[in-house]
Amino acid sequence: MAAHAAPTVLVIASGNAGKVREFAQLLSGLGVEIRAQPEGLEVEETGSSFAENARLKAEAVARATGCWALADDSGLSVAALGGAPGVHSARYADSDAARIERLLRELEATSATAISHGEDADRRAAFTAALAVADPSGTVRLEVEGACEGVILDTPRGQGGFGYDPVFLVPSTGLTYAEMDKALKGRISHRGRAFQALEGRLRALLAS
Ligand code: IMP
Repeated sequence: MAAHAAPTVLVIASGNAGKVREFAQLLSGLGVEIRAQPEGLEVEETGSSFAENARLKAEAVARATGCWALADDSGLSVAALGGAPGVHSARYADSDAARIERLLRELEATSATAISHGEDADRRAAFTAALAVADPSGTVRLEVEGACEGVILDTPRGQGGFGYDPVFLVPSTGLTYAEMDKALKGRISHRGRAFQALEGRLRALLAS
């Protein structure tokens, strides 16, 4: 027999209403009731990886609510910056525009050094999304990760999306995240891939 009853309620470990709506839509076929986490519940993201932060949030919200909980953590890792901004993506500066400006400035500085040493500038980057599901006791039962590789452009392109989207080009498409329509970004993005990996496994977990 399973250690816990079927997870009829799944709490999304996020205080962001937009994120909760997006998750509810993506998981609408699973037959679970999606709830936002209780107001005032703050979980510090002290992990050194996306997976660790997703785990911390899922565990804390499951324990606080006594329900199953799903958490995500995501961000951009730039090769020439040693993986920065990484788990600090959201806190890299005060606004999306300022975050992009800081990223381009720092990348420009490392590129100038590489070029002065006769090397090519390295513009490689990857977005990663980690998802974790914890049961009501706070034990993580499921973890998945999705990634999308790309390069950082010198200047922003496109009007859609959010965050670092306008400077993240996916070479196989010739488009930045900000130039993609929702369906394309949903298929190939780090978050889309993480969800594709989650869906079947979550369905199996719910049925167990
Ligand atoms: P999270 O909500 O803690 O996962 O924050 C992740 C941060 O990474 C966001 O605030 C953005 O700055 C960045 N990020 C994550 N996913 C995307 C994306 O799809 N496009 C652009 N930026 C993203």
